[in-house]
Amino acid sequence: MSDPLYFVLDPMAHQEDTASKIVFSLERLSHLFRIHWWEQNKETGLSPLQMQILIALRFQPQLHAVSAIARYLELTEATVSDAVRVLQQKAYLEKRPCPEDARRHILALTPAGAAMAERLALFANQVQAFVRTLPDQGVVLESLLLLMASLQQNGFIPLQQMCTTCRHFQRVVNGSEPYFCRLLDKPLAVHDLRVHCPEHEAEIAG
Ligand code: SF4
Repeated sequence: MSDPLYFVLDPMAHQEDTASKIVFSLERLSHLFRIHWWEQNKETGLSPLQMQILIALRFQPQLHAVSAIARYLELTEATVSDAVRVLQQKAYLEKRPCPEDARRHILALTPAGAAMAERLALFANQVQAFVRTLPDQGVVLESLLLLMASLQQNGFIPLQQMCTTCRHFQRVVNGSEPYFCRLLDKPLAVHDLRVHCPEHEAEIAG
């Protein structure tokens, strides 16, 4: 749609345009976690950012530095540092000596922090139950990963460790499966596509 007077976010204007309806739906969906975090704020006294840090450290403990969390959440280190300080005061998080370098510290959850992170993360399980009812979940996953790759390549979202931005990822024409992972040397069906792969390597620019 190139008409400058056409607005994708005008719900009355895009009844005939599937792409517009998808973007409108994404905008609506973008509120899902934000609304939940603010509801949880009333019960826990934690800000949405503090909740995100707890969840990140619970399920991705390798993000154990302020700089790593800041990169992951696309925030400044100063913002993350402030939130980390509050989480320490609430005894959800502590600094421990780094096993590889005694001069450094790493961020680690306390048992109370881990329990809070798991409690907060259960919301995603509820959402998953609804997603499970969708037909063609593999096609939905493929479409989302292709969209995320386009958005990442155009600077709208940070790099994700997913198949569609990986140098080992290959499309296959007329194969038994539509994709192939050159690193793992195996065909990938749409439902095999990974959103977060430890072997991911970013495509080489150029
Ligand atoms: S290495 Fe991982 S992210 Fe890359 S194509 Fe293979 S499975 Fe996908």
